Amino acid sequence: MNYKITFALTAVLIAAALIVVGCARSIASRQSVEPRIAANNTPDNKKTDSKTDEYNGEKIVKTEAEWRKQLTKEQFYVLREKGTERAFTGKLTDNHEHGDYVCAACGLKLFNSGAKFDSGTGWASFYQPIAAKNVTEEIDNSFGSTRTEVLCSRCGSHLGHIFDDGPKPTGLRYCMNSVALKFEKKK
Ligand code: FE
Repeated sequence: MNYKITFALTAVLIAAALIVVGCARSIASRQSVEPRIAANNTPDNKKTDSKTDEYNGEKIVKTEAEWRKQLTKEQFYVLREKGTERAFTGKLTDNHEHGDYVCAACGLKLFNSGAKFDSGTGWASFYQPIAAKNVTEEIDNSFGSTRTEVLCSRCGSHLGHIFDDGPKPTGLRYCMNSVALKFEKKK
């Protein structure tokens, strides 16, 4: 066989092997898990209009170029590249107005002010989402620790992480990046 063809074939095989290994690793470190708040068991539904606000299962899929065009640099970094804004820099951390917090990428309703609390961590904190279905949880093994990542169920954008040190009634703390959310004031 011509040595050039042999060389090209070898290069293609090596590239394919690297892609397979890379995908397997990223699947291993991003594993979907059961939500801590089970579906149909959002503990404090009085604060939301849970029937109309519950995610209907329709996905929004866009290319990286489309997201870049739509989002600001900071939004793209957090929402699409799983970045984290610096503590105490988020515009919504100390927002105490009544209203809903929606995904900054697709507008899905995610949290209501009734479930917001001052965690003192420097990030906007909620003890529950508007409906269990509206957010998705995945295991995140980045930075040498295991955390649970929170994503928008509709567009898959990264929102923040969830921890077990929240207040009653759930004991959960949804630790959210302000730049990943938009606030819609209730009139
Ligand atoms: Fe979204």
